[in-house]
Amino acid sequence: MSANSRELPFASPAGFEALSFCEAPAGGRWFVFRGDQLLVEMGPPDPRPSDDPRVRQRPSWAKLPLQKNHNWLGSNAVRTLYLGRLQGEDCWAAELAKDAPAPAAGLSWEGLRALFSVLDDAHFALAGRALQIVDWDRTHQFCGRCGTRTEAKREERSRVCPNCRLSAYPRVAPATMMLVRRDDELLLGRSPHFPPGMYSALAGFVEPGESLEQCVAREVAEEVGVRVRNIRYFASQSWPFPHSLMIAFVCDWESGEIRPQETEIEAANWFKVLQLPKLPSRISIARRLIDAISAEMRGEQRST
Ligand SMILES: [Zn+2]
Repeated sequence: MSANSRELPFASPAGFEALSFCEAPAGGRWFVFRGDQLLVEMGPPDPRPSDDPRVRQRPSWAKLPLQKNHNWLGSNAVRTLYLGRLQGEDCWAAELAKDAPAPAAGLSWEGLRALFSVLDDAHFALAGRALQIVDWDRTHQFCGRCGTRTEAKREERSRVCPNCRLSAYPRVAPATMMLVRRDDELLLGRSPHFPPGMYSALAGFVEPGESLEQCVAREVAEEVGVRVRNIRYFASQSWPFPHSLMIAFVCDWESGEIRPQETEIEAANWFKVLQLPKLPSRISIARRLIDAISAEMRGEQRST
């Protein structure tokens, strides 16, 4: 079992140096957001159907704006943040108002999911990072303890309260994902907000005071009423919708029949590994996990 050697989408790209302050702002690569939409130059719609049940159509190509002038957004920018350098190129994140038109001809707004496999992989990964940092900066302008306006620190990515010194760092919410095996079957469920027909591995946020393995066992018990054992780490993925770290596991069924928790799980079933339902897009670790474990199980079936 392995996550296979290829990096998951949103992994920090090779040649990227994260920095929080730029001595001499000049041009560079720009990650400009309006809400969760990214500003890109893009080609006509790709006629091929999208592999992502959540994306109707992808553009045939897309690229990020490269600007020589650091002030090209002028007063349109609600915030501008330095991200660091990718292969020596300065990278900037900015946010425009929710209803802002594209700030230059030839540019338009597109959701990140639609740009997966379309935008350069390294740029796509940094777009996920930029989206999270922009969101964190927006929501930490004031101290959570005393309400004073915070100030960005130069030496690291944090905001500090000048009154009470409380520091705020970009938040990452750990969540576990778990694929439960029983003989030649996998336990998959669907939440009410999934696209029609799509099933995935179960998942849930880690609570204060529990280990990742305890979280896995608790989530499976809560969501479908099943007990599991032999919990093994698979891989992890940064997930910017909105600021999660997905930590994936595989485990074995121990006891119990499926009883879906009505509020979170619309349906859950055991699926034969040779007859899996519609699965999530390859953008997510869920798909990597299901593909890797089902390939391993099919291999076991052939060899017995
Ligand atoms: Zn304070």
